[in-house]
Amino acid sequence: MSDVIIIGDGPGGLSAALFLAKNGQAVTVFGQDKTAMHWAMLYNYLGIPQILGSDFMKIAREQVTKFGADLRDQLVTRVERTGDAFTVITESGESHNSKYLIIAEGKGLELAKSLGLSVTDEGVEVDRDFRTSIDHLYVVGRSTRIQRSQAIISAGNGAAAALDILSTEKGKDFNDFDTPPKK
Ligand SMILES: Cc1cc2nc3c(=O)[nH]c(=O)nc-3n(C[C@H](O)[C@H](O)[C@H](O)COP(=O)(O)OP(=O)(O)OC[C@H]3O[C@@H](n4cnc5c(N)ncnc54)[C@H](O)[C@@H]3O)c2cc1C
Repeated sequence: MSDVIIIGDGPGGLSAALFLAKNGQAVTVFGQDKTAMHWAMLYNYLGIPQILGSDFMKIAREQVTKFGADLRDQLVTRVERTGDAFTVITESGESHNSKYLIIAEGKGLELAKSLGLSVTDEGVEVDRDFRTSIDHLYVVGRSTRIQRSQAIISAGNGAAAALDILSTEKGKDFNDFDTPPKK
């Protein structure tokens, strides 16, 4: 059983995975590297003057894997809430369980809708920590703002959801702050 399952491997899902795995959570990410980023040329990601979307994703996938997240090249076809846990079923028929679930499925809202979440023209309704109406279920990224989507916003959403999970688990507010190595 994973602590956190993330469905979607674009900037939203991978950013959440980065913060969670870096801070000791057992994280499994499902996705097939089909993010819209492969069509993008980024000039507007703060701190990176320019980069091909595909190159950005290659770095992101390596970064997340290095921190211990398990990236699975599989499509999720169904999600169920079973007691206190989530069960995720993939197209190959495998099922995986977790305490927390983050959906980062991009502009498609199939899984969010299948769980009965409230959806408007703007996307799935979430609070400022990207919590949904279902306990321990988060939706981040383009799914929450279909018409106004930027990579840096999705990455920020994922980070916010991860900090909320980490704060909940630790029982107090949590920041992931690092300092430079001592000379
Ligand atoms: C042509 C084009 C150019 C762009 N240019 C820019 C730009 O210059 N700057 C910028 O900031 N943004 C740009 N964008 C937008 C940017 O790509 C998005 O803002 C960003 O990809 C959103 O990230 P996300 O993680 O929310 O969703 P996505 O990147 O869409 O990721 C969702 C992921 O979830 C996966 N997924 C969905 N359902 C399932 C499932 N059931 N099981 C497993 N995996 C699933 C998808 O395959 C996908 O990999 C551009 C987009 C396009 C199309």
